[in-house]
Amino acid sequence: MWFSFFKKISGDVAIDLGTANTLLYVTNKGIMINEPSIVSQSLITKKVIAVGKEAKAMLGRTNPNIRTIRPLKDGVIADFEMTDGMLRGFIKKIGISRFSRPKMVICVPSGITEVEKRAVRDSAERSNARQVFLIEEPVAAAIGMGIDISKPVGNMIIDIGGGTTEVAVIALNGVVAKESIRIAGDELDSKILNFFRKKYNLLIGERTAEDIKKSIGSAIKDEGTIITVKGRNLVYGIPKTVEVSSNEIAECLEETIKSIVNGVKKTLEKTPPELSSDIIDRGIVLTGGGALLKGLDKLIRKETGLPVNVAEDPLRTVIKGTGKVLENIKLYTDILV
Ligand code: ADP
Ligand code: MG
Repeated sequence: MWFSFFKKISGDVAIDLGTANTLLYVTNKGIMINEPSIVSQSLITKKVIAVGKEAKAMLGRTNPNIRTIRPLKDGVIADFEMTDGMLRGFIKKIGISRFSRPKMVICVPSGITEVEKRAVRDSAERSNARQVFLIEEPVAAAIGMGIDISKPVGNMIIDIGGGTTEVAVIALNGVVAKESIRIAGDELDSKILNFFRKKYNLLIGERTAEDIKKSIGSAIKDEGTIITVKGRNLVYGIPKTVEVSSNEIAECLEETIKSIVNGVKKTLEKTPPELSSDIIDRGIVLTGGGALLKGLDKLIRKETGLPVNVAEDPLRTVIKGTGKVLENIKLYTDILV
């Protein structure tokens, strides 16, 4: 319709293509998409039928003719076609005109290979990008937190997402030491799911597991909140309810959290001494959705003896940083990869 034609916008786009959430920022407009990285496809027409929130609502509820998946796993593109479809879906959602060929800055995990980088670029180009720039996730996170990374001072960032945990020490516009661990929020969810299966013969969905993590999950034990969880009895196949304490959940998360803490320690060991002393003074900043897990900052503080802070808006630091780079691309040419 002519009317919707005029509603279309133009602008360059910054993208945080996360394993759990995708955020899109448009120049002069701000964050326009903040949705789960999920896509649904019709197996009959092969067309993408929903992306983001709408696709998430379909998870576990579709018929055999619809496939709903998370196309990014462990911080990389696991399904190229579906990633393409998802990116295009989001770009369509913000109403970028098909005639405008935006410049795109996309944030990628620091551990990805050249082949994986190529895949991200190709996907963006197929989404009509005129020019594609990539930026490493911890660098974008640091910029998003307002840290001046051009100084000869070390900053340690831990970004805990859905599929990957990125630990990095940044100084003079670059990553000096890093560790990219393919263990993060998703693994915590599956630990919770397995815990209910093994201990209570209870089958719960992935969404329920994630909800439990967000509501009572913790990296340390506390006074022990009790909650009721609904699922399906694995033995009798009928619905079943159980009561669990937050401390049981904390216990089942312990091992995964330990792997994350070990990654932090490894990065500290690789850090040059001058920068280590900066980190002793300035501490570590936690970001990404996983930073919201209760008690995680406290635990890392205890395990490393360093000051630990949680970023102000951990689910958005990366897109804020990527957006800032997009708006001032000439200032940041050194850090684009
Ligand atoms: P990604 O960059 O991989 O897309 P995000 O930074 O968006 O990941 O973080 C998503 C992860 O954060 C998910 O695993 C989600 O369950 C987790 N998360 C979000 N909120 C909380 C919370 N309050 N407590 C614990 N984990 C959380
Ligand atoms: Mg992320």
